Amino acid sequence: MGSEQATLPGLALSQGSCSPQDGGSSSKEDMGNEAGKPRFKRIDREQLFWRMVDLDRLIADDHPVRAIWELVGKMDLSRFDEKIRAVEGVAGRSPYDPRLLISLWIYAYSQGVNSARAIERLCEIAPPYQWLTGLEVVNAHTLSDFRVGHGDELKELFVQVLALLSSDGMITLERVMQDGTKIKASAAPDSFRTEEKIQEQLKAVQEHVEALDKLTEEESSERAAKARERGRRERSERLESALREFDKLRAEGNAKERVSITDPEARNMKQAGGGFAPSYNVQISTDAANKVIVGVGITQAGNDFDQLIPGVERVEQNLAESPKQVVADGGFVSRDNIVEMESRGVDFIGPQCEEEGKGKSSYEGRGVTSEYLSSRFVYDAASDSFRCPQDKTLSYEGKDERNLHVSYKYRATWADCKACPAKGQCCPGNQVTGRSVQRTEELPEVAAFRQKMKTEPVAEIYHQRSEVAETPNLWIKAKFGLRQFRLRGICKVEMETLWACLTYNIRLWIRLHWKMRAAAAVAMA
Ligand code: SF4
Repeated sequence: MGSEQATLPGLALSQGSCSPQDGGSSSKEDMGNEAGKPRFKRIDREQLFWRMVDLDRLIADDHPVRAIWELVGKMDLSRFDEKIRAVEGVAGRSPYDPRLLISLWIYAYSQGVNSARAIERLCEIAPPYQWLTGLEVVNAHTLSDFRVGHGDELKELFVQVLALLSSDGMITLERVMQDGTKIKASAAPDSFRTEEKIQEQLKAVQEHVEALDKLTEEESSERAAKARERGRRERSERLESALREFDKLRAEGNAKERVSITDPEARNMKQAGGGFAPSYNVQISTDAANKVIVGVGITQAGNDFDQLIPGVERVEQNLAESPKQVVADGGFVSRDNIVEMESRGVDFIGPQCEEEGKGKSSYEGRGVTSEYLSSRFVYDAASDSFRCPQDKTLSYEGKDERNLHVSYKYRATWADCKACPAKGQCCPGNQVTGRSVQRTEELPEVAAFRQKMKTEPVAEIYHQRSEVAETPNLWIKAKFGLRQFRLRGICKVEMETLWACLTYNIRLWIRLHWKMRAAAAVAMA
């Protein structure tokens, strides 16, 4: 520090020093200074020099990047090779080995780096990246294209890694936790527009381009024309893609939805911390034994009701085996899911959902006295109708399929109720319709599910759910930086998610297998 200060212009020994020129007293030190200013080694940061680098000593023997390289080397990457056109004996530039590009991305994700440009920079300065590349700098375009250009191959790699973890005893499928988490899309909340607005914008873009096309050559250089054409194409494609999303939404029965013009496939989803944001719903299945991610999927659905069965099927596809037990939160508990899990022989565990008795408090709130609660109405199966305490008939009106049961509605006529002396205790608020009651039917599977969830051992299993299921979510978001997608469109965000989940599993393998094996080898030596 002292030497740095002394070499700074204008600071060298000027303050607080006592030189002969200042008229101070003479000492041995002063005598030394009389010969001139002290001289130090100059740091020359402009110079270029060669140096010897022992690449293998850039990183420690137990550095995780070695484990990643080793693990990726064990995988069959022949499907990645199929896309490479350069071959031995034929002229042309050799591309990078997929093993290197995969290892670079995995290591980068594990360090919370998920940008191709950042990796390119790190290849220049960071020893783990330099060790991987052999001091080469892999450019961002190559990295970026590789990340999204091998969807099927990446899925196959994910499955291969699962097979390795399974053979190392890290996966049992005795208990799998299914969970959904919302990850924000690369789009602003105010990027949503109605269909009419998007059509207007598309028309404006097309008109604008036509006007630009009429510019003379002096007004428009070739380069500017190319940039204009690229901008027009990208904007038009995004707007046309947004319009196509409306067809999809209409097919799903969401005619009134708006679509983001930045990422048309993102959906406005409720966030855990409150509010809504353009997002994707990431579904993760985690094996409870060692918290390995055994299945991952992306959906545009804002809720999880329809995601349990696809989640189980993904696990079956990945590991050729069904999980014995699946644990999920209340968002996955529905009649259909309970019945389907039962038919597949999968033990489904979810929270207790007591829907019975929900109506009682609302009846009381409406001024219905205890003599006229729905339990006082008598059902007659033969005529499929109810008799009220005043012996009037309530006829079948329609059914309502609820989450866990089917609800059948019956109603008295307005004429009967209007003339009834007990109307004030039975349905005081009704002004135009007669009193209604509901009959619910619960399937045996749902009743058995309710009973099961009341037992203590099963409730205890459910309590373990959040710790297991939320661990990968936390890692992916907090440690790997995937709080918001960098890419747009469901296919590309699926790739981003797969890279992060693959990295998570490989990190687990390093911690639970590779490091223990390395420690054992050191102990043996
Ligand atoms: S108000 Fe209607 S439903 Fe209620 S007791 Fe009277 S007749 Fe029956």
